[in-house]
Amino acid sequence: MIVVMSHCATEDEIKAVSAWLEREGFKVHLSRGVERTIIGAIGDRTRLAGLALEAMPSVEKVVPILQPFKLASRTFKAEDTIIRVGGLEIGGDTFHVIAGPCAVESREQLLQSARIVRDAGATMLRGGAFKPRTSPYSFQGLEEEGLKLLAEAREETGLLIVTEVMDARTLRLVAEYADILQIGARNMQNFLLLREVARVDKPVLLKRGPSATIEEWLMAAEYIMSGGNYNVILCERGIRSFESYTRNTLDLTAVPVVKDLSHLPVIVDPSHAIGKWRYVPAMARAALAAGADGVMVEVHPKPAEALCDGSQSLTPANFEAMMKDLRRFAGVMGRKMP
Ligand code: PEP
Ligand code: MN
Repeated sequence: MIVVMSHCATEDEIKAVSAWLEREGFKVHLSRGVERTIIGAIGDRTRLAGLALEAMPSVEKVVPILQPFKLASRTFKAEDTIIRVGGLEIGGDTFHVIAGPCAVESREQLLQSARIVRDAGATMLRGGAFKPRTSPYSFQGLEEEGLKLLAEAREETGLLIVTEVMDARTLRLVAEYADILQIGARNMQNFLLLREVARVDKPVLLKRGPSATIEEWLMAAEYIMSGGNYNVILCERGIRSFESYTRNTLDLTAVPVVKDLSHLPVIVDPSHAIGKWRYVPAMARAALAAGADGVMVEVHPKPAEALCDGSQSLTPANFEAMMKDLRRFAGVMGRKMP
C-alpha cells in the first residue's frame, strides 16, 4: 500500500509514520515527489486491520496497490523516473542511443566501434564480455580482458559502458568496470541474480525475457527495487512468437503499456528483436514514436566478420544514416538527441 502524506507534512511526521510502519513489520520505501512525499509500505496488509494509520498527523490517505508490482508501479510514483548516471539522464527529454558490437572481440574492433558510435552521437557503448550463447561451442566472450577493453574505450571516448552480467559469481568483477549492468533476457527471472544486483550501486538495464509477460517483467524489476536498487531501466528486446522470418517479435505495444503501468525508463533493442540489420532503423524510429527513452542497437566495423550476431549488426555507414534519421524524428517528437 502507499501512504500519501499531505503536502505540508514535516520531516518528523514522515519519520513517525515510517517508524510506525516498520514497527508493524512493513518494509518502507520513500518516494519524494515535487508536491508531496509518498511512503510505500510493503508487507502484510492484514496486520493493519483496526489500526488507525489514517489518523496519524499529516497522513492524507492510505491506498492499496492492487497490482503485484508495487515500487515499479505508477501508483507508488506518479512522476517518470530519471536515472542519472555519469552526467547523463535516462528517462527525461533525451532520446538515448546505446550502440556497439554484440561482443567485445578485440582491442581494435572495440575501439573502432566506440569511435564510430561516439562520432555519430551515441551516448553509451554496449558490448558483451560474458556472452550468453545458445551453443557452448560458440564464442563465449573475452571475460575480464573484455571488461578492461570496455574501460579503455570509455577512457578514450567518454561513452558510458553497458555490459551484461551473467551470474552472481562475476557480478563484483563486472560492476567494477560497467556503468550500467545489463541483465540479459535469459536471466530476467534469475531471482538470485536479481537480488544480488539489487545490492550494487549501479543502474540495471533489465531485458525482457523472450517468453515473459509484461507483468513478469515488472515483477523482475520489483525484485531489484525491493532489494534497494531503484535505478532500473526496462529493455524490450522482442518476444518469442510463431513468426520465423524475424528472430523474435518486437513487442512495441509494451512501450506505452509499461509507460502507463510504471514510472521506469524504457529502452528498445530492435537488433535482437528482429535479427536482421535491414529492419533495425525502421523499428528504432518506431520505438522513438512509441515513446521509448532510447534504443540499444548492435554496430560492428565489419559485420561479416563478427563473432556474434553479425547478421543483425549495422555497418558504420548504416548506423550513421540511422542516427541522422532518428535525429530528425526526435525533433518532431520533442526529444533531444546529442
Ligand atoms: C545482448 O544484448 O547482448 C543480448 C545477449 O541480448 P538478449 O539478452 O536480449 O538476448
Ligand atoms: Mn547480440
